[in-house]
Amino acid sequence: MEQILAKTKFADPSSDKKPLIISGPCSAETEEQTLATALALAKTGKVDVLRAGIWKPRTRPGSFEGIGTKGLPWLQKAKELTGMPVAIEVATGKQVEDALHFGVDILWVGARTTVNPFSVQEVADALKGVDTTVLIKNPINPDLELWIGAVERIQKAGITKVGLIHRGFSSYGNTEYRNAPMWHLPIELKRRMPGLPMICDPSHIGGRRDILQEIAQEAVDLDYDGLMLETHVDPDNAWSDAKQQVTPERLAEILDGIVWRHERTDQKDFNTALEKLRAQINQIDDEIMLLLGNRMKVAEKIGMYKKENNITILQTNRWNEILDRSIKKGDKLGLTKDFILKYFDAVHLESINRQNRVMNDDHKA
Ligand code: PEP
Ligand code: MN
Repeated sequence: MEQILAKTKFADPSSDKKPLIISGPCSAETEEQTLATALALAKTGKVDVLRAGIWKPRTRPGSFEGIGTKGLPWLQKAKELTGMPVAIEVATGKQVEDALHFGVDILWVGARTTVNPFSVQEVADALKGVDTTVLIKNPINPDLELWIGAVERIQKAGITKVGLIHRGFSSYGNTEYRNAPMWHLPIELKRRMPGLPMICDPSHIGGRRDILQEIAQEAVDLDYDGLMLETHVDPDNAWSDAKQQVTPERLAEILDGIVWRHERTDQKDFNTALEKLRAQINQIDDEIMLLLGNRMKVAEKIGMYKKENNITILQTNRWNEILDRSIKKGDKLGLTKDFILKYFDAVHLESINRQNRVMNDDHKA
């Protein structure tokens, strides 16, 4: 197992090795389905670790909640037949014990467990003194502190081989995704906890087959250290997450379609060109900041006038006028409406704070 991981970026995120590929069914359903999927995955030669859900925490009751302990010997057999290490989700102390008893190599904490510190602590307590690899999925809600908290609980139990899985965040209303990726959150987590490998789970982000490849590509472009994708020998008839599962053969096509980029290169020309462009970016950023500073000084002046004339800071009409004007102008410059709205929101808020200070500072004095 260690040798398999050691060949990938998972074991050394700062290296240029290939990302770790984990794949297998959402749920182990029958011995036949588990073994057939495992063998077909092994045949592709592209998968490092076999995954399968044994206990399935479902958001609503009434759907398949996993085959339970009975499925663990199937995974043992799949491992014997293919040589692939196996990974499953655990949510309780008993599940950890059972998984370890049946030789499961990698355990992961699911999104519905990461949200609950009591459950994470129970899993962590069961892992004390055990030398295994634990992956922690992001919580279903976009809360970085909960995700970090779960990592800390597992690490405090003495587990040193910890990895992260980004599976997207649930949001109200239908979006293009089953779980919105909110890429800035895993990126921020990587900054806060450097050195921890980050795996992307396009299956649970996408929720459907047709966008798996583009999500995986985006993760690879963000220098992720691995991918976890759900596969099933008969995806349409899967007992859980049927819409997002693909056959092992389709998985191989998806992986072949990905452009694998590297974080660095020793190529001199490329590095010189990049340095020049980065210098240009720095120069432009400096100019933008200088202009923003000037803009805020003008806002302060407006604040003084408003104060002298007893006029409110916020005038909704003016704000709408700024937005309309900027969205139109932005469009001509190739800037998206979404970006313009976010940018002006930030600028407007800073402007209001400045005016507020000018108008109300002497009250505080
Ligand atoms: C799964 O991996 O099948 C699963 C249940 O995922 P999540 O915890 O991300 O919903
Ligand atoms: Mn699933």
